[in-house]
Amino acid sequence: MIKMLRFPMTSEGHIIFAFGITILAKKMALTPDLAYGDWWHIIPGGLITCLLPDIDHPKSILGQKLTWLSALVYHIFGHRGFTHSLLAIITGILLFNHCQPPESIIPFDAFHAMIIGYFSHIVADMLTPAGVPLLWPCRCRFRLPILIFTKNNKIERLVCIAALIFALQYPTTEPIARYLTMTEYVQALLQRMYVSLCCYLFEYNRPQNG
Ligand SMILES: [Zn+2]
Repeated sequence: MIKMLRFPMTSEGHIIFAFGITILAKKMALTPDLAYGDWWHIIPGGLITCLLPDIDHPKSILGQKLTWLSALVYHIFGHRGFTHSLLAIITGILLFNHCQPPESIIPFDAFHAMIIGYFSHIVADMLTPAGVPLLWPCRCRFRLPILIFTKNNKIERLVCIAALIFALQYPTTEPIARYLTMTEYVQALLQRMYVSLCCYLFEYNRPQNG
């Protein structure tokens, strides 16, 4: 018997949220491949993986298509286990780097977008009361439960559309330098996110002239 989580996020919500986060990642130029990449690679890349973490639930959209795989993953890890963690993303990146054929059919910009799409699912699930085990196998669950269940999922739809609108109006920025070490890159990325947040807060709080 599969135990359903109370008020899981809907597939529609995940797709809208992933759409917004993928656009935002390109506009923020999180990686040079995203910054200079092709929108026609990036958007499908972000959307194609945004439902993948729920392969661990046989009643999910993907779970109903790939029943044997879904049942296997569910049996081993349970729902919202390994597939909803950073370790799953790291495993995916390592597999892509080591197992791809010399002439990979997946362009790097699309692959980076696929990581963003997958990550967007985990972030979206963090907004529900059940949260996610981000640091699996540590069972500690991370959550920011702003998506409270309402009739017709009104709040979920509102939050996801707000994220999409935010992404659409976000200005395009220059990519972070390609030749930084990982630590410098993370520092630069966090600094950029902090500055962007401050700019928006400042804009919202600034008194309007005229
Ligand atoms: Zn999920």
